[in-house]
Order: sequence, then C-alpha cells, then structure tokens
Amino acid sequence: MKKNSIIFLNLVLFLMIFSSMLALLTLLLLKNSNLVLYRAVLTIIFILSVLFFGYILINGILIVFLLKGKRIPFFSDKWLKSSLNFLYSSILYLSKLFRLDKDKVRNVFTQLNNQIVRSGRKTMKPEDILILLPHCLQNTDCPYKITGNIDNCKRCGLCPIDHLLDIRDQYHTKMFVATGGTLARRIVHQVKPKMVIAVACERDLSSGILDIKKIPVVGILNERPNGPCMNTRVSVKDIEETIQFFIQEGE
Ligand code: SF4
Repeated sequence: MKKNSIIFLNLVLFLMIFSSMLALLTLLLLKNSNLVLYRAVLTIIFILSVLFFGYILINGILIVFLLKGKRIPFFSDKWLKSSLNFLYSSILYLSKLFRLDKDKVRNVFTQLNNQIVRSGRKTMKPEDILILLPHCLQNTDCPYKITGNIDNCKRCGLCPIDHLLDIRDQYHTKMFVATGGTLARRIVHQVKPKMVIAVACERDLSSGILDIKKIPVVGILNERPNGPCMNTRVSVKDIEETIQFFIQEGE
C-alpha cells in the first residue's frame, strides 16, 4: 500500500480510537452519576459515539477494499460516494489539525472516488463524456485564448492541448478548458454530460468531485514539473485509457 494511503488510513484509525475513547469515557461517567439530566446527556453522547465508531469501522474496511482495487457489491455507488465525502471532510480537518500534507489526503480521496466510479461502471457514448482541462496545461507563451473555445489552439505541439485535441477528435468526446471552479460548474451545467473526466491538481480535483454530485467524475492528476499552475502536463495515455474503459461494453 502506498504511503499516502497509509496516512489516510491512520487518520481513519484515529477517528475510530477517538470515538471509542469517547464511548468509554461516557460509560465511566454514567456509572458514577445519579443526576437524571446528566445521565440522559451522557447516554446520548454514548450512543452517538458508538454509532460513529461503527460507521467509521465499516467505512475503514470499505476503504481498504477500494484501495486494493476490489469491487464492493453490497453498497450502492451513491451510498459509497456520500459516505466517502463525509469521511473525507473529517479526515481533511484532522490533516489540518496535525499539520499533515493535505494534498496527500486529497490524492487518496481522488483515488477512492475513481475506484467507486469505475466499480459502478455504466457504458457511455463518447459524446456523453466531458473532459475538463485546467488552463495551466496551456503553454504560458501561447497567444491564443483557448478558454471558451479550445479549437482556437493552433496545434503547434508546444503543450499537451495538441495531443488532447487528437484524443477528443478520435473519440468524439466533449472537451473544454476551465480557469476555475465557477467556470467548470458552468460548463458542466451547459454541456450536461453523463460523466466528467477532470484534470487538475489535488485541491481542485477534490473540490470538483465534491461539487459535482449528480454526475460521476473521474479525476486525473496533472504533473507540475515547472511548479504549480505553470506549463503543467498530463498523461494523455491515462485519459485515453479512462475513455476506453467507459465506452467499451462491460464484461
Ligand atoms: S498546442 Fe495549442 S494551446 Fe498549446 S501552445 Fe500550441 S497553440 Fe497554444
């Protein structure tokens, strides 16, 4: 298992230990208290902490399965996704508290989300797939404005947009460049795709996945050899493999 996944799982474990300690503490206080109101409050806290512990335990087991690339047949994708989103908010908060690298947590969240989307695969027509690209993939010296209309690209080969357009033309998917979350949401609203393949950094990917609730989103991380937000790259092969995965009839 990768280091990022271990950090994520350790934070899940922390939540489990925390809720079980809280349950034990309230149980101890309950035994030593006679005040009716106080006991009622403690009982509520005890029940909530036991329920929270059970919830985190189930999710922790599911996360291990997902990280191992296994399919989870007994839970709906919707349940898995909303459950992951809830757990992710707590884990991200903990990573802030412990001053851990939040991008590592976001990375695992994207990975888990992709696994859920893939395991609940529904075959798509390529034209129902929207590929959303970040503006930072475009070469900074390029004079053409490709947000709004990616076909303004002159395909000079200086940045990955050239090859990405080849993929779009080959498979007939939709492809747009967005400068931020607001524009990305507007594009999704206008295009009305059945699924989104989003390319971005860890932060934008995780917030995009949380934002777009009704449509499956597969996140693909960009590479940043020149630092953040500047002449970034992406694996065209990964994007092509994702398109093929969702357009081919399932086994
Ligand atoms: S490939 Fe297109 S977007 Fe990239 S630098 Fe060349 S013209 Fe500009």
